[in-house]
Amino acid sequence: MAASLFSQTRRGFLLSALKKPLSIGGIRFDVEKNGSSKRRYLHIHGNESTARDVLREHAKSQKGIYYFVVSDKRNVLVGDCLIDPNRMFTDAGARKSLERWNKGKSAAQIDASLALLAKDRDAFVKAVTPPKGGLLIAMHNNSEGYSIKDEVAISDRVHMPEEASPRDFMLVTSEKDFEIIAKGPYNACLQKTVRTDDGSFSVLANSRAIRYVNIEAALKNHDKQKAMIGYLEQVLR
Ligand SMILES: [Zn+2]
Repeated sequence: MAASLFSQTRRGFLLSALKKPLSIGGIRFDVEKNGSSKRRYLHIHGNESTARDVLREHAKSQKGIYYFVVSDKRNVLVGDCLIDPNRMFTDAGARKSLERWNKGKSAAQIDASLALLAKDRDAFVKAVTPPKGGLLIAMHNNSEGYSIKDEVAISDRVHMPEEASPRDFMLVTSEKDFEIIAKGPYNACLQKTVRTDDGSFSVLANSRAIRYVNIEAALKNHDKQKAMIGYLEQVLR
């Protein structure tokens, strides 16, 4: 009895050590680790279920550390206020998102949410930032009304071999990675300079020289998004 209780507790301890959640301002992320690798993976919009499914499958075969937001909604609560979590990576971007989504809240409530984010931001960013030479891949889905065409004007370079599928594309921050991806069959844009600070991860990646690829695909375009991440794993070291 005592022995089995011990082994159950120990098993529980080991599992929780492997899957200790990460959080920022109360927004929780499940952490899944597969072996040892310089790859990091991020799923940050809870309503983008195709991206989550593809990434969960990917985690079974590809080594790296995976972060999944614990939510099924796009916007999440920080304190009393809602925020788009892909706007939380800078103070200025977070403020804009909080002011946009919380019209009925007081300035004090918005400031309190900003303070909660600021307290955890460095530790969170440190956790998801890959080691030197590593790569962070983020997975997103979009709906009608957003595509690579919206990024063309603010991109340094654009590769559009699939003009008929503009919603499926990669947003890349490293010119070297873009050169490689631009030899392939998928749409891609290079954004290596910060233009507007909207608080998104790509802004942070550019300001800290983090190698980052965001794979965007139309929601429910499961096989396409799976092919895109598979292609990246093949061509990028
Ligand atoms: Zn998204």
